[in-house]
Amino acid sequence: MKIVKIPKKKLDLFASILRQHWEIHAPVEQNGRYAFKPLTHWSEARLHYNRTILPPKKYFMPPRETMFHYREGKGYVPAQEELDQRLILFGVHPCDIYAINILDEVFGGKYNDPYFQTRRKNIGIIGVDCTPDEHCFCRSMRADTVEKGFDLFFTDLGEEYMTLVGTSLGDDMVLMAAPLFEPITAADIQKYKQVSSEKRQAFSLDVEIHDLPEIFELEYKSEIWDELGDQCLSCGSCSMVCPTCYCYDVADTVELGSKAGDRVRTWDSCLFHTHALVAGGENFREKRSSRIKNRFYHKQRGMVAEYGRPSCVGCGRCIVGCPVHIDIVQVINRLRGEDHANRG
Ligand code: SF4
Ligand code: SF4
Repeated sequence: MKIVKIPKKKLDLFASILRQHWEIHAPVEQNGRYAFKPLTHWSEARLHYNRTILPPKKYFMPPRETMFHYREGKGYVPAQEELDQRLILFGVHPCDIYAINILDEVFGGKYNDPYFQTRRKNIGIIGVDCTPDEHCFCRSMRADTVEKGFDLFFTDLGEEYMTLVGTSLGDDMVLMAAPLFEPITAADIQKYKQVSSEKRQAFSLDVEIHDLPEIFELEYKSEIWDELGDQCLSCGSCSMVCPTCYCYDVADTVELGSKAGDRVRTWDSCLFHTHALVAGGENFREKRSSRIKNRFYHKQRGMVAEYGRPSCVGCGRCIVGCPVHIDIVQVINRLRGEDHANRG
């Protein structure tokens, strides 16, 4: 893997070179929280942030997406409007890149999804390393570092960003701005090792995932699920903010008085009361306890069986976003019988 570095003071110049070819989206601050937004000026970008409200998943499977139109006399008309948009996400954290890699397996395997795939091809990713806060447990979920899924990856060395080149697109970006990049030195390597070690030691939240599928299997009938069902509001916030939740609903919106309409898919949540409701009125997960149990089992057990790893990357968004403070780490530790073991 090619590794170079770029002085921080030259980042705005690098961004202006990229903007000749791509629209750049990066984390922008909004009342103390962060969201990926298109940049007007590089000065709006915040590369030091804890987490964005919604994960970058929103670019690859938008919250509301028109799949195709249907028009009288024309039949089905592809909805290409936004699919071809070429942009760069600048400043994506390792856990969020890891989450996109998980979505790659979901939407690129037996459920090949052309919408996701097209966006994946058209959207470049520049990752940036981060410092964990009290809600991050990505190290426990083995998602605090990534080896793939980015075009470039930046690590803050103080005055410069060490830059890993992950793809040929990333190499093109570096070549486009070649005078801005420099070779790394022995001192940079030492600094990188120090930064890496400091990051590992900065985690205050841990969860043990070894044998977790077995623990879940054993605790299927635990009273914890009823307790959580009593607390949960079924608001679906945990699913909406999760970088790996991918349920969606498909519906036709028909233009009244015409024979035209759109087929639209929108984000859905297994916490919603109607998620498992089928024709005839049967609801396979009528109780809130069964719905919240389903979310935990799908992430921590079902995904391990199907894809070989849990689909949680430890970003902490569901902990921050739950209005009744249901905390995934506390739930796992309670199931393990280690209620107070996690917070350092
Ligand atoms: S389950 Fe929670 S902590 Fe895990 S990836 Fe989803 S939002 Fe992040
Ligand atoms: S965010 Fe909390 S209250 Fe809302 S559905 Fe998820 S677990 Fe339930």
